[in-house]
Amino acid sequence: MATIQAIEARSVHQIQSGQVIIDLCSVAKELVENSLDAGATTVEVRFKNNGLDLIEVQDNGSGISPENYENVALKHYTSKLSSYDDLSRLHTFGFRGEALSSLCALSEFHIVTAKADQVPRANRLDFEPSGKLDKTQIVAGQKGTTASVEGIFKRLPVRRRELEKNIKREYGKVLNLLHAYACISAGVRFSVRNTVGKTKNVVVFSTNGNRTTKENIANVYGAKTLSALIPLDLKLEFEPSSVTRRAASSEPVNQMEVRGHISRPVFGEGRQTPDRQMFFVNSRPCGLPQIAKAFNEVYKSFNVSQSPFIFADFQMDTNAYDVNVSPDKRTILLHDAGALIESLKTSLTQLFEAADQTVPQSQV
Ligand code: ADP
Ligand code: MG
Repeated sequence: MATIQAIEARSVHQIQSGQVIIDLCSVAKELVENSLDAGATTVEVRFKNNGLDLIEVQDNGSGISPENYENVALKHYTSKLSSYDDLSRLHTFGFRGEALSSLCALSEFHIVTAKADQVPRANRLDFEPSGKLDKTQIVAGQKGTTASVEGIFKRLPVRRRELEKNIKREYGKVLNLLHAYACISAGVRFSVRNTVGKTKNVVVFSTNGNRTTKENIANVYGAKTLSALIPLDLKLEFEPSSVTRRAASSEPVNQMEVRGHISRPVFGEGRQTPDRQMFFVNSRPCGLPQIAKAFNEVYKSFNVSQSPFIFADFQMDTNAYDVNVSPDKRTILLHDAGALIESLKTSLTQLFEAADQTVPQSQV
């Protein structure tokens, strides 16, 4: 029998990091979320070679205090959560202090950061793969933080090769994800640039720091998309299941609101591209496959041949769901999903029935 022994710490860190940062989307998501958590009003995402060479996110947020430099990329060090109980009251994107430490393990990672009172000086922080601070250096910089990820997955050759092979598709997925963050972030000026070969720094899309998500959608998808949308403003009420009832320490959640925008339910106003469907829970972009299915089913009963543009933000009590399900935090577990979906279908049907069903002139 082989001896049972512990895996060395460095390998454990590698393995776990690969579960937190699974692809290009995870990198962009974690960095953008950190910028938004830091109260940024401008977020600029820069790619080189579709992200293979560099993914960099610059913000004008709070910056990082010098006393935190040592800890910023250590695993499970966070300024956002200190105990498990805080999880149910969570209002930041991050909470586990794993993203930066994972990026150190999987890439060449560095940060340039400055608090307002340090400008025009900033500090460049370089890290070891373990997340330990390697060195700091004074550089010129503005208030805020720039996090740079070079050569992602270079220490996981199989995954790196896989990424290189599928880079076009992966880059497309990242853009869709960034569309969602840009649209939901009212008051934040978002821009995304990419440099491929000699075509330098092309702006892929941007928003103007608008006050409303509607204006953001117009910036990202064009004003024409907007004219085909109706407001989503639903109040859902449902019976909590007996399981939730028993588990709940306080009154179980039995209502929520859905806000956003959706295509008018008539032919000509739906879109065929299913990537234009964005879902959020308390403004947190996430995949909600069962809910997406319900939306599409109801829409199909009004417009058989097209798919809707959907921008739907589910506003609910933080006790009604769990974000701590998967290491990449993309899966959100909604308690009472079944009852919620039934109520959603009824409300959507009513909304579509009440909507103007005249076929637009351009389609007649
Ligand atoms: P988490 O977001 O879960 O706290 P991260 O590893 O993403 O964990 O970040 C660790 C800590 O680094 C954060 O808690 C925050 O204090 C700091 N930090 C990271 N990115 C930024 C940023 N862009 N601006 C300010 N602080 C940041
Ligand atoms: Mg984070």
